[in-house]
Amino acid sequence: MTLDIARIRKDFPILDQQVYNKPLVYLDSAASSQKTLSVLKKEEQLHLEYYGNIHRGAHFLADQATGEFEAVRDLVKDFIHAGSREEIIFTKGTTESINLVAFSFGEAFVKPGDEIIVSEMEHHANIVPWQLMAKRKGARIVKLPFTDDGRLEVEKLDALINEKTRLMAVAHVSNTLGTINPVGEIIAKAHAKEVKVLVDGAQAVKHLPVDVQALDADFYVFSAHKMYGPNGVGILYGKKELLDQMPPYQGGGEMISEVTFENTTFNEVPYKFEAGTPHITGVIAFGEAIRYLQKLGIDRIAAYENELLAYATQKMLEIPNLVIYGTQPEKSGVITFNIEGIHPFDLGTMLDKMGIAVRTGRLCADPVMDHYGVQATIRVSFAVYNTFDEIDQFIVALKKLVVMLG
Ligand code: PMP
Repeated sequence: MTLDIARIRKDFPILDQQVYNKPLVYLDSAASSQKTLSVLKKEEQLHLEYYGNIHRGAHFLADQATGEFEAVRDLVKDFIHAGSREEIIFTKGTTESINLVAFSFGEAFVKPGDEIIVSEMEHHANIVPWQLMAKRKGARIVKLPFTDDGRLEVEKLDALINEKTRLMAVAHVSNTLGTINPVGEIIAKAHAKEVKVLVDGAQAVKHLPVDVQALDADFYVFSAHKMYGPNGVGILYGKKELLDQMPPYQGGGEMISEVTFENTTFNEVPYKFEAGTPHITGVIAFGEAIRYLQKLGIDRIAAYENELLAYATQKMLEIPNLVIYGTQPEKSGVITFNIEGIHPFDLGTMLDKMGIAVRTGRLCADPVMDHYGVQATIRVSFAVYNTFDEIDQFIVALKKLVVMLG
């Protein structure tokens, strides 16, 4: 059965509007996707019917909210095929998930002189937390490079790993190049030398089926707002045996077992890492986004988005002097490009005026920009609600602008 995209678009009412008197073409879902009506309705229902603080209230509303919140933990566990619900920690986003691991893993396992390997194609969120930790612990960051066509040089990994290497940080799907990295292979190589691996799945979970146990990932992180869910909610999956050995990231309510002024004992995972009142509304509504993805089927979504990607790529390559960064066959979701002689900000601004929302700039990936020696780029990204017709509108606009600005 193929996806009925016209029907799907009705689940995202925001898409049905005009901007600057032009039909909106939203090609910026890699930055943040739009949310399904079911997510928005769940948020409203919670606030109208049974909102209360979770885990603490001995009352009806709090019990109901707690039940739904904890049910989403099970849903996430099944969605990424984690082994147990204790391994699912709610955070405020991918960025916080990585900061949590960098801090707590660093405290538990990293000594002066140790090394962390970070791929060259990472988002800043998967670079800077490691640098902060390395500075604090006297450790060092080592780069795993990528080739000009956007392939991570995995064959160099064995030579980079030594007895000082503690962890490797790598994106499952690059937010700039779109490359789907062979994370299973990377993890196997790292584990052969007892190195742990954190996989940044922010761009992967909505496009690919993810099985953290099959991958054998030690940590897998992502954000709800990139997968049709609310913003302000992130996930950290971590193997329980590691989480158990890591100290808390933040202190406060819920993460404790007992507190005196002399000493505090900590709660079990996942609560040890969930200090304070979490984003109750966001997590509960996130459940609806996961149900939506499951209803459509990740495989079918992936197949459709791959068709959009291939179609857009082929049309864009017909435009003279257009350069695409990242041309791997194993690619998903995004096309980052420039047109020689035209400033990407000019192009982005003009596209916006024509109703087409794209991302311009350095895409939170300075090392990728430096790799290609460019100041800025333009990125279009696709979600299940985009259509071939929208891509045609984008290509027509691009061709017009090449004539105007070129
Ligand atoms: N990693 C990748 C690959 C991303 O694309 C993003 C979001 N652009 C992040 C991390 C950061 O996610 P968030 O802003 O939701 O914390």
